[in-house]
Amino acid sequence: MLQRTERGQLKTVLVAGGAGFVGSHLCDALLAKGCRVIAVDCYLTGSEANIRPLKNHPNFRMIEKDICDLKVIDEPVDEIYNLACAASPPAYQADPVHTMMTCVVGTGNLLAIAQANGASFLQASTSEVYGDPEEHPQREDYRGNVSCTGPRACYDEGKRAAEALCFDMLRAGRVDARVVRIFNTYGPRMAPDDGRIVSNLVVQALSGEPLTIYGTGEQTRSFCFVSDLVAGLVKLMEVDPNPGQPVNIGNPGEFTINELADMVLAMVPTRSRIVHHPLPMDDPQRRRPDIDRAKELLGWEPRVALAEGLRQTVDWFSSTMPPEIRRRAGLPPIVPSRPRTDAPLSLGA
Ligand code: NAD
Ligand code: UDP
Repeated sequence: MLQRTERGQLKTVLVAGGAGFVGSHLCDALLAKGCRVIAVDCYLTGSEANIRPLKNHPNFRMIEKDICDLKVIDEPVDEIYNLACAASPPAYQADPVHTMMTCVVGTGNLLAIAQANGASFLQASTSEVYGDPEEHPQREDYRGNVSCTGPRACYDEGKRAAEALCFDMLRAGRVDARVVRIFNTYGPRMAPDDGRIVSNLVVQALSGEPLTIYGTGEQTRSFCFVSDLVAGLVKLMEVDPNPGQPVNIGNPGEFTINELADMVLAMVPTRSRIVHHPLPMDDPQRRRPDIDRAKELLGWEPRVALAEGLRQTVDWFSSTMPPEIRRRAGLPPIVPSRPRTDAPLSLGA
């Protein structure tokens, strides 16, 4: 069923960061809902492979551009999702000035495009706005404990500034802006080398390399499967009225990094052993979302348990990894629990 606007045209949705891990799944979901989708991405951390299956879709268009340089879009748009920003700590710290500019200048450019088009706007913010939290679990009204000078500041403070821009534009009546605070999300299409914990552990186990744990591994995170996140993003964009306040989207199941590593080792036949590396500066010690607001305002809660999502993630990485990597490491091939597919993940009801 195609989604049409009051003008009778196809609803056109711009996804900034559309070639990234989350963005490409969002593009799939929006096309499946019958929207026209314009992805904008500069391929900083995303990849052409993530959107290759969409290239011939009649309702899909790709624009290769940095959002810091994006001033106009040459066709009307009805909604803008801003997911453009490196998300993994090594990636966003590689060029911290560009990360900050992406958050501030890039978000400002997209908000201006939203205003010019009368489009609704959804900003992908992050649990990093809570920093190394002193309140647990994290509710949206907690103001956070963020270093504004440390190595994570380009991202944490950049995202906080982007939130401020969104709420200023909303209060001024200029843009129907919405803000989601995303907690650690994982799944197929994470870049194998982007340095985040789930992709690192799975790729290391599959290739027989040591599993790297930073610090004691007793720090915690709460892991959300990507289909659950995408369902939450779409609900927040579509909910009426605009909540006018940020909404946490994440899975409240909380695990230590040691527990996560044990799950990966139990799932992947491997010779890998655990090695410890120093804990990066300002690494948050505990993180778990309070999702009461998402439940109440969006009727949203996650459906995919970590064991199930991790299984799908392992299957995807093993099906995309060249088989000689396991052969060279003297490891048996992985038998996937389901056939490989490039089809979009089910978003549930
Ligand atoms: P990702 O790195 O896979 O995707 C980000 C995409 O944005 C990439 O395709 C990248 O090339 C593109 N990009 C980066 N800077 C850009 C720029 N200046 N102009 C145009 N494109 C640019 O990361 P992801 O996990 O898919 O994250 C998507 C969004 O969600 C990010 O904004 C991130 O901050 C936010 N987020 C993600 C998580 C998570 O756990 N995945 C958690 C919190 C917040
Ligand atoms: N981490 C780890 N080994 C790795 C990568 C990350 O122990 O190979 C730790 C990291 O120090 C942090 C947690 O895992 O405590 C989550 O890291 P990630 O980069 O995935 O996300 P973030 O720190 O942004 O939540």
